[in-house]
Formats: sequence, structure tokens, C-alpha cells
Amino acid sequence: MSDSELPSSRKAVGIDLGTTFSAIAHIDTYGKPQIIPNAESERITPSVILFDGHNAIVGSLAKQNAVAEPEKIVDFVKREIGKSKGQFHREFDGKVYSAEELSALIIKKLKNDAEKYLGEPITDAVITVPAYFNDAERTATLHAGQLAGLNVLQIINEPTAAALAYGLDKLESNQTVFVFDLGGGTFDVTIMRIDDHHIRMIASNGDHRLGGKDWDDVVVNWVADEFDKVHGENPLLDLQSYQDLYNRALTAKIQLSSRTRTTIVHSYNGKSIKLELTRDEFEQKCRHLLEKSKAICEIVMQEAQMDWNQIDRVLLTGGMTRMPSVRQMVGDLSNRPVADDVSPDEAVSLGAAVQAVLALLHEEDKLGERHLPAEVRSQFSAQDGSLIKVTNITTHTLGVVLWDDSKVEEYVFPMIKKMTPVPTHVRNSFGTAKANMKNAIVRIVEGESTVPSECTPLGICDIELPPFLPKGSPVELTYSYDENQVLEVVVEAYGRQNRVSIARNTGLSENEIATATADLLQIKVV
Ligand code: AMP
Repeated sequence: MSDSELPSSRKAVGIDLGTTFSAIAHIDTYGKPQIIPNAESERITPSVILFDGHNAIVGSLAKQNAVAEPEKIVDFVKREIGKSKGQFHREFDGKVYSAEELSALIIKKLKNDAEKYLGEPITDAVITVPAYFNDAERTATLHAGQLAGLNVLQIINEPTAAALAYGLDKLESNQTVFVFDLGGGTFDVTIMRIDDHHIRMIASNGDHRLGGKDWDDVVVNWVADEFDKVHGENPLLDLQSYQDLYNRALTAKIQLSSRTRTTIVHSYNGKSIKLELTRDEFEQKCRHLLEKSKAICEIVMQEAQMDWNQIDRVLLTGGMTRMPSVRQMVGDLSNRPVADDVSPDEAVSLGAAVQAVLALLHEEDKLGERHLPAEVRSQFSAQDGSLIKVTNITTHTLGVVLWDDSKVEEYVFPMIKKMTPVPTHVRNSFGTAKANMKNAIVRIVEGESTVPSECTPLGICDIELPPFLPKGSPVELTYSYDENQVLEVVVEAYGRQNRVSIARNTGLSENEIATATADLLQIKVV
């Protein structure tokens, strides 16, 4: 949807598109962020899709059917987002779905239910992603929102959103917050600073393949091994049995957050097993996962060059932070007070809703218009009337591939280093690698390594050079990175210039989005 097609009355929401659960929130007429319940009256919706002919059933009903019809189910899509259709797809009823199309179906369910609840159409959204998501993963998330028929105002980082939700009523008290976000499939740690109505990201790190599912898998594999020992059969080879065991493991994990022991029963092929699992044993089996998350906390503190005593508060988000061992580890490691006035499941979408309204307020300022209620504007403004400011940092280094004459090999020169506040603008001059070069070809990459093959290629920007230039002739290179984490690269030499926008380069074209949207309209999302 282009800006010119947007209806004059706009309604913006915040969407937390989670690995296991998703949530949607809005700002009410009093300027307060509120969760919008789904059609099943739940405040969070399982990110699970069940394909049933031309219908896509999203949420609890799909999750409940996972055991009965595992071949019709898609879950954990977020772990695949950013991959091309060739790298990941699922096929149902003769139609092949990409990760962004599947994510779009989840967003559609949230949007449809929210429209029914609010009694008005939803036009705009801010969608959250883990802070360490790269360009391709952000692009795919943006496209998922567009495919669901939304104008995506911004893609923002989950910890920033959580800090916004937490900090909204504490903007008067300056403080540094450590956000520990352990969800169903991803892990993110971020240090945020709240200073005079300005929320600033200082450092961030994470692991996008570490989350609750790994804890579940430990239990699944343990039960399967015990079953095999007793019955000589692997219960994971059958999809239905795997789904069933997976659900039992998940239930056991959640029970162990409030109880010290639980029983797991599993039947397969007419045989069954009954096992006792204590919280201590479970924690022992999962110690390596907790250690992994602890190491990442320590790395981010080093990257920020901070001591724990400089942290005022620890903010826990993500369903996995309900687990006592996780809370204990973070508490012991930081020795700082833990904020418990935000719900780990809801903070991210509430913060995204705040950012969505902030984006609309900024647009109003730009156009000199006023549509949103005055109460809403005042909730998001400092005493001097200026709007709350949010500054993010880059979570990956953006570099250029250069030629090292002395080592006779290529290397990556970092143009914008990891942890640079955005927006940012960097200009550098380089010499041509050889005499008589016809073109200056700039290869743009993302990643922390200086070895080109270890970085992700983002694109190429080239210009023609005048003839007979000596080696070392100057070529100017500028990298600009905006608030949406969209990179623009400009190459200039001898009065010539070329400009490429690396924004969203890996995803779908506008035409592909239009076709995919039309295709998705054929599917009824319930
Ligand atoms: P999120 O992606 O933030 O929704 O996190 C969901 C993850 O948190 C899933 O792995 C859930 O199994 C897990 N989870 C939710 N509640 C609990 C709980 N009470 N104890 C342990 N894990 C939980």
C-alpha cells in the first residue's frame, strides 16, 4: 500500500511476531498502550498455522490439532524468516508458501481479530524483530506485514520495544536498563539508557537459535532415549508421536516453573513409558543452555564497556524468563533489581504500539496536521512538548571489500561499525587497486569478520572511471544508514556518481508483493 492510498483516518498497532506466540496492541484514546485480545479472547496467539483446504487456521485451534494432523501444521516460522523460497518453503494443497507468506497469515489473523474487537480497520503497524536480525530477516518481516495488507511504519528491535513499554511512565527518572529477552526461539540482550525522554540503545547481542524450544528438545530427547532403552524403539520417527511428545515436554517444562517435580507419560505403537522429572534434574540437563545465555550477557557487558553496578534495573521479557533457573541466573549474574511491572509476554507488542503512535505523531508534525487526540500526544511528549525520542544502534558491521596490496588478498574494511547510533553517515576515500581500472566496483557486505567470504554480501555499487588513471586514484565512498536500518551507498569519482539503496534488497519486488498479496487473499484466515 502506498502512502497516497492510505485512508485519511488511520489506526496503528504494534505487532510482536514471535516464534511461538504473537501479540498485537494499540494505544487507546487516553494514550495508554493496551493488548488487543484475539477472537478466542486470548491476549497472545500461538504462532501456529493449520492448513485446511483454502482455510488457514491460526492460533490455539491450530496448536491443539498439531498432534492429530501434524502434516498440516506450520510452526517456528520465525526461525526461517529471511530465507529465500528456495531455501525454505512449505507446500499445502498444491501451493508453495515462503516464510514471509506464512508469517503474513499469522499477522492477518492478528489484524482481522483486532479489527473485529476495535470495530475499525487497521491501516498501519510497527512490527518487532530481534535486535540481531540482519537485513534479509528485517526485509522479510517488513514484507510479511505488507502481504497482510498493512502499511509498515517501522521495523523495530524487540528489546527497544520492551524498554519503551517499561520506560513510558518512568521517563522522568534517568536510568540504564539491561533487557534480557528469552523467547520461544530467540535470545536477545540489550542495554538501554533512558535520559530526559530519550531512550537510547547502547549495546546489543544475541543468538537467534537459542530459545524455549531448545529446553523443550532436551526433554523430548531424554524421554525418547528412555523409551528406546525400555522398548527398543525410537518414538520420534513418527511425526504424530513426535508432536505428542513435544506437547508433553512443553507442558512438563512449564509445570516445572511452578512445581518441583512432574510426571511425563508417553505412548507409542501400543507401548508406553512413565517418567518422573524433578526441577533439579531438568535444570541439570539444560545447564549448557543457561551457560550459553549467560556468556552472551557477559559479552554484551564487555561490548558496552560497563560494570553491572552501572545497570539500574534488569528487565525480563520473553516467556522463558518465567523459568526460575533463568531468573536466578540473571539475578545472580547482575546482582541488580529485576523490574517486574511488565508482563514478559506483552511488553514487546505494547512498546511496538507506542512506537507506532510516535511514528504517526512525527508524521503529523512533518505535515503540520493534528488528527490524533490531544491526550495521546501529551502522553508521548516531554514537558516542553517535544515527542519522546528513541535511538537505536546498528547490530552488525557494514563494510566494503577492498584489496590489500601487501598481503595480496581481499579484506573487509568496516565503514559503519557495530553499535553505531542510527541514523549515521560515514564518508571515506579509497585508492584504486590497479592502474587503468575501467570501473570502481564496490562490494557491500554485512558482518564482523575481515574475511569477505565470512560476511553476508548485501549488494554492489559501481561507476565507470575515466581512462588511464594511475593506481591509487581516489574514489569516495559514503554509507548512510537511516532509522529503519536502510543502507544507502554512494560511490563518487571524477565528477561521476552512483547511488544504491541496499534497503530490503533480498526480498520481494513491489510486483511480487502485489501478486503474493492477491494470492494470500484467496486464503481465508481464521
Ligand atoms: P515468547 O516467544 O516470548 O512468547 O516465549 C515463549 C516461550 O516461553 C516458549 O518456549 C514457552 O514454552 C516458554 N514459556 C512460557 N511460559 C513459561 C513458563 N511459565 N515456564 C517456562 N517456560 C515458559
